[in-house]
Parts: sequence; structure tokens; C-alpha cells
Amino acid sequence: MARRGISRRAALIAGAGGVAVIGAGAGVVAVATGDKPEPSSPAATDAQGHTLWRNWSGIQHAYPAKRAAPADEAALAEVIKAGPAPVRVVGAGHSFTALAVTPGTLVSLDVMSGITRWEGDEAVVKAGTRLGALGPALAANGRAMANLPDINKQSLGGALGTGTHGTGAKLRAIHGDVTALTLCTAKGELIHCDAKTRPDVFNAARVSLGALGVITEARLKTIPNKRVHRRVWIEPFAEALSKAEERWAQHRNFEFYAVPFTDLAACISHDETDEPARAREPDSDTAFLDALRGLRNLLGWSVPLRKAAAKGLLGGEKPQEAIDDGWKLLSTERPVRFNEMEFHLPPESQLAALKEVVETIEKHRPDVFFPIEVRRIAPDDAWLSPFEGGPRGSVAVHCYYKDDYDFLFTMIQPIFLRHGGRPHWGKLHSLRGDQLGALYPRWNDWLTVRKELDPEGRFLNLYLQGMLGLD
Ligand SMILES: Cc1cc2nc3c(=O)[nH]c(=O)nc-3n(C[C@H](O)[C@H](O)[C@H](O)COP(=O)(O)OP(=O)(O)OC[C@H]3O[C@@H](n4cnc5c(N)ncnc54)[C@H](O)[C@@H]3O)c2cc1C
Repeated sequence: MARRGISRRAALIAGAGGVAVIGAGAGVVAVATGDKPEPSSPAATDAQGHTLWRNWSGIQHAYPAKRAAPADEAALAEVIKAGPAPVRVVGAGHSFTALAVTPGTLVSLDVMSGITRWEGDEAVVKAGTRLGALGPALAANGRAMANLPDINKQSLGGALGTGTHGTGAKLRAIHGDVTALTLCTAKGELIHCDAKTRPDVFNAARVSLGALGVITEARLKTIPNKRVHRRVWIEPFAEALSKAEERWAQHRNFEFYAVPFTDLAACISHDETDEPARAREPDSDTAFLDALRGLRNLLGWSVPLRKAAAKGLLGGEKPQEAIDDGWKLLSTERPVRFNEMEFHLPPESQLAALKEVVETIEKHRPDVFFPIEVRRIAPDDAWLSPFEGGPRGSVAVHCYYKDDYDFLFTMIQPIFLRHGGRPHWGKLHSLRGDQLGALYPRWNDWLTVRKELDPEGRFLNLYLQGMLGLD
């Protein structure tokens, strides 16, 4: 998201520590704004000798009694039947919540990867395929996925599991382009479903948290593989807010990051082009974040000084541009670890919610320095899709992996809920059964299909039992 000049100057400011004292009504709150120590790591094995599993950000871990990486559907069915329960399937482990955590069986589909066959322009893809491997495999046939998330490390099954999405007013989340899928149930039976065959299972399973069974493959719509023109620029936050709607209408892909304590925003657009490829500069995400962390560490005690320094440091940079195949440009590397909460809001509430989030952070949380991501997603009709029933605008708040993230639940989630938000299923939230039922018209239908397919709850871990209101 950032540029080269920043990396040179970032080195000058990173490192110092501090404590910010923020006036909060009658009280005064002190929030440490220096670098915190490395979070402690869980033991490599438990008392029974089971090996540690951790998610990408490090906040979830488990010691599964059994691990399996079946090579085909028959082997997978045996693994599911044998257990021990809970049986949880994991993709790349990039979700922030405890979805994959299990003391029972942890199943990886890493071996079940690749394109099985083509049906016209639709590709039947094994669910263990990583999105990063799918791009070149589709491009070899002149095709591409319509859109991609920020990163391409996820497995297809994992991306479907949580409703993973990119940005673009006319572009659906990945599950929105699924036209058929195969599900292996708790009894080890394979269900092939689409909009006409077992439509109840198809509607419930496209976004299903690994709670209905294991998706073994999915048929995906594809588009012609085209080059896109990527532009990245920094501008005042107020300008990004006022132009957001026209940019979502104008660009194939558009998103922006509100950068708290700077009054700036980083904007990214992608549009199809026939122009020749133009190389992308090396990603400077890390340098940008180092600069913001340095500003936090040095000047977290003074909002005006921090903002003034940010404008000097980050403003006035030339926009970055690149041209290449969409699958090469739409996702980037995110080497700096974080924890995240993202809610999907009705478009008319999205920017109001964003403004409240930025104001709240600038008033109460000087330790926050990560930019806040703002995207737009087209609707689909999967029952647990956050985009079911209409387009949604997402707002995502990130916290450096060393920093406290409890305030996401106490300060940020209430703002999203007031504005009618639905949580990203793979990111932090604390909603449970009744609250989720109020947000999803087909919630009870989804629970009915779950019970029919897995009456004994073999796929339910403690986290899912609590979230689904089944505990
Ligand atoms: C750096 C980073 C960037 C991200 N960027 C984005 C983004 O741009 N957009 C976005 O929407 N999200 C984003 N996410 C969130 C991420 O896309 C989701 O959490 C996604 O589910 C992770 O995929 P995974 O393969 O790691 O799945 P996991 O986290 O391993 O699993 C996710 C869920 O899917 C289930 N599952 C996995 N495989 C299957 C299967 N074969 N059948 C049935 N269920 C299955 C699991 O049981 C679990 O419930 C990001 C996360 C990180 C860490």
C-alpha cells in the first residue's frame, strides 16, 4: 500500500516507546504506545505429546489428537467417520477465530489440490487448492477468478468457509461464483449439489464454517484472464470519504485504507487494460507500517503532533502504478502479522460507521496504528453469506499482533452493530445464536440443514457450539 520514499524515512522514526495520556470525560486513561514484548508461545507439545497447531496470527492454538491429510474423497470419508470428534477441517489457518481449533481430529486437504476438470468456462476445483496456485492454473487456460482477496494464501475450501471476499461494487465474494459443490458429510457420504439438485444443501453449504461437512470440490465461474492497471495513492481522508461512492461506481476494484492519526487515506484501484505489462515495485507494506508504528511510538502522546508528522512523512508521494494479469496484482503479501475485526454493513451506513470508528480510535486508542480497510462487495444468495440480500460495505480494523485487541469487542463491535453490520465469519467478533439469527433471515433453515447432516455434532467444536447457540 505504500511507497519507496517512506521506507527510507521510516527507518529514522521507528523504535522509540511512550505512554499516551488521553482525556476521557472526567477520567484520564493511560495507554502504552511503545512496542510491547513478543507474545508468549504455547508449548510445542501437550502432556500427551500432541503437536501444537496455531493460526496465522498466533492467537488460536490446539493440540489435535489426530491429524490427517487424505489423498482422495474415499480416504477423507474414512477419516471423518473414524474421528475422534470434533472433526475440524483446516485450510491455511488464516482465520482469526477458533474455527479450526480441536482436541480431536484436524483434517487438511492440502493433498486434494488442483483443477479436476472444465465444464465449459467453469472450473471444478479441489477444495484444498490454495488461491495462489489457482491463479496460474486458470491462466494456463486463459481464464481467471473474477476477484481475489488481499492475500492468496487461503485454500479454496477455507475461503468459502468464511465468505472470503475482495472489493468491487460489481464483484461477488468467492462463494458467489460457486455453481456446484461436493460435500462429505459426518457419515462419510458424498452429496453433489447445485441450485437444482439438493438446493437446500447448496444454499447452506456455500458458506458453512466447516460445520456441515467437508467440501471436497467446487465448480467456479471464471472470466477471461485480463491485465489490470493498478494505482495506489495517498490523499486526505476527507477526500477519500467524499469520493468513495463515485470511485466504487467508476473502478472495477476500489478500496481505501483510512489511516488513523494522520487525516490521510491510502487508495487502491484496479481497472482492466490492454496496455503492456509494467512491473510492480516491491511491496512496501512493511515500510509503511513501520513508519506508522514509529510515529505511534514517538508521538502517541500528542494527536496534533502525530498528525503533523504523518503529513510530512507520508504526504506528497507520487502514486504507484503497475500493469499485469489480475491474478498477479489483486492480492499482495501481508508480512506484518495482525489481528482483525471486519463487519459488512449496508452501503448507506458504511462511511458513517467508518467515521465513528476512526473518531473512537483517535479519542481512546493511541496505540492503534494499522490502517482501517474499506471495501464494497456485490450480493449473493448463500444463506450465511454476509452479502445475502444486498450489497455490503466492509470496514476492517487491524491490530498489530503484539498489541491489545480487546477494545475491538468493547468499542468497535458496538458501532458496527448499531449500523446493521454482519461479522466476517473468519475474523474477530463475539456474536452468538440469537444475535446472528436476527441478522440472517435463513439462520434457522441453515441450522436445520446442519442438524440433518450432522445430528451428533461431530463437526462442532466448543467455539462453534457457543457461536451457533447450541451449547
Ligand atoms: C493476512 C490475511 C489477509 C486476509 N485477507 C482477507 C480478505 O482480503 N478478504 C477476506 O474476506 N478475508 C481475508 N482474510 C480472512 C481469510 O480469508 C479467511 O479467514 C479464510 O477463511 C482463511 O482461509 P483458510 O484457507 O486459511 O481457512 P481456515 O482459516 O483454515 O478455515 C476457515 C474455515 O473454513 C473451514 N474450511 C476449510 N476448508 C474447508 C473445506 N474444504 N470444507 C468446508 N469447510 C472448510 C474451516 O473449518 C474453518 O471453519 C485474511 C486473513 C489474513 C490472515
